[in-house]
Amino acid sequence: MHDLVIKGGTVVDGAGGAPRTADVAIAGGHIAAVGDDLGSGRRTLDADGLLVTPGWVDIHSHYDGQALWDPVLETSAGHGVTTVVMGNCGVGFAPVRPEHRPWTIALMEGVEDIPGAVLEEGLDWRWQTFPEYLDALAAAPHAIEVAAQVPHAALRVFAMGERGIDHSEVPTDAEVDAMGRLAAEAVAAGAVGFSSSRSRNHVASDGRLTPSFSAGDRELLGIARTMGRTGKGVVEINVDTRDLEGDMALLRRLCEASGRPVSMGLLQRPGQGDAYRQVLQAFEEAAGAGHMLLGQAAARPTGLLESLGGRVNPLAPSPAYREISGCDPDALQKPEVKARILAELSGQADMTARFPLAFELGDPPRYDRPPSESLAARAAEAGVEVKDLVYDVVVGGGFVYVPVSNYLDGDLRAVREMLVHPLTVPGLSDGGAHCTMIADFDYPTFLLGYWGRDAPEDLRLPIEWVVQQQCAATARLAGLHDRGMLEAGKRADVNLIDLAAVGATVPALVHDLPAGGARLLSRGTGYAVTMVAGEVTFEHGTYTGALAGGLARV
Ligand SMILES: [Zn+2]
Repeated sequence: MHDLVIKGGTVVDGAGGAPRTADVAIAGGHIAAVGDDLGSGRRTLDADGLLVTPGWVDIHSHYDGQALWDPVLETSAGHGVTTVVMGNCGVGFAPVRPEHRPWTIALMEGVEDIPGAVLEEGLDWRWQTFPEYLDALAAAPHAIEVAAQVPHAALRVFAMGERGIDHSEVPTDAEVDAMGRLAAEAVAAGAVGFSSSRSRNHVASDGRLTPSFSAGDRELLGIARTMGRTGKGVVEINVDTRDLEGDMALLRRLCEASGRPVSMGLLQRPGQGDAYRQVLQAFEEAAGAGHMLLGQAAARPTGLLESLGGRVNPLAPSPAYREISGCDPDALQKPEVKARILAELSGQADMTARFPLAFELGDPPRYDRPPSESLAARAAEAGVEVKDLVYDVVVGGGFVYVPVSNYLDGDLRAVREMLVHPLTVPGLSDGGAHCTMIADFDYPTFLLGYWGRDAPEDLRLPIEWVVQQQCAATARLAGLHDRGMLEAGKRADVNLIDLAAVGATVPALVHDLPAGGARLLSRGTGYAVTMVAGEVTFEHGTYTGALAGGLARV
């Protein structure tokens, strides 16, 4: 007898075929069978009217620290995600020597906006090598599955010491060899792969560019080549395509050197117009030469959320605001106080000036507003300054949503174009990062709810395609071949979804990180049941306490 049978749901199995009514039987934490009338199990779940899908596999997160102290990772786990891949963008906490711990924290704080105080309190440093870090992850309790990549910044500083942080230094051949050996050792121990960054946006909290920024070909290709010899592992790299041709040539060489899948974050970047199309073309050329070079595409514009409680507070530059908000927050509602603060803010360059298309996020949150609903358009109509409306939104407890990339045309067509390209998979949710200023961790929910249901009919994407992309396709890229599909033998990581109810609540700031640190959290709606290895982890948005996840080793 099966442990559990999910009866009569609309099965969207992740393979991409049309949804069909079927039962799903689970035994021993794995899918036992998918088919008609599989009888009853020790437990039976009625899934009539619900989609039955694999759990989402989110390949771009930054829970490298959090996964050690937080068993739930609700920002992902509450949105149907059952596997997260961490260690992206070349930053993380292993391998590390004791003397470099503070620096790895400063780097993570600067690059991913995870407060240093949170990491200092949260990390217990039971490891130095990457395999030891994996063991620490494996020993920690988990509601969902976590998988890790070995980050270039850590490799560099481990192999080169302080010189690894200094961009005027070049590693010796022996140091390049050491980095390669450490990457291979990590992958042999179960790491998903090796990650790096050449982004100018990746700066440590002390102002220094991320160590891998200046890594040359000899170093990057040397690491990729040695890792590739294990026959396992992927390469993830963040390039900002300021030198598009150079970056794409480098990625191509990384494919050649490693013989492994290579992926990069793909965005329509400010000031770069439709350069993403040239990137897609470079992917096609690489595919033509037999390489697996893929883009990680975002489900919507990457967006800053400005608020009074978050790191990007549009009123913060005003001395009057700082004085008043500390002693009497209610006073901010008074017209004379508002006038004084706005006067102090006039002439201050803020995010709203840099990115003129800013919006009120609203409740329920809307990420697809047209430019006619922007704060600038509303201010022009009302004959007031944009700052006036920004003030009302944030003082009212709301968020100003500033789409930073993927919104250059004032709509979501570029997002769609990148998503549907056959050489991209969904990514870039950045779960665990940018704690109080970005809430893109709900990308998987948005991908399903917006693109699968709410988008204008001519732009909408088939549910079976959306599901396939964010479980089977992402799992395949990460080399996690035991999951991502509802098929006999695969892990029983499953979502039961009421598609009509799929969405996310407005993010709220919760102060539950170590050292009282804050993070934005929203609840996924429409997830009737999420299970990991056949155990129910979330039921209608509430965590059940189940700890059926663990470290996924590739
Ligand atoms: Zn990242």
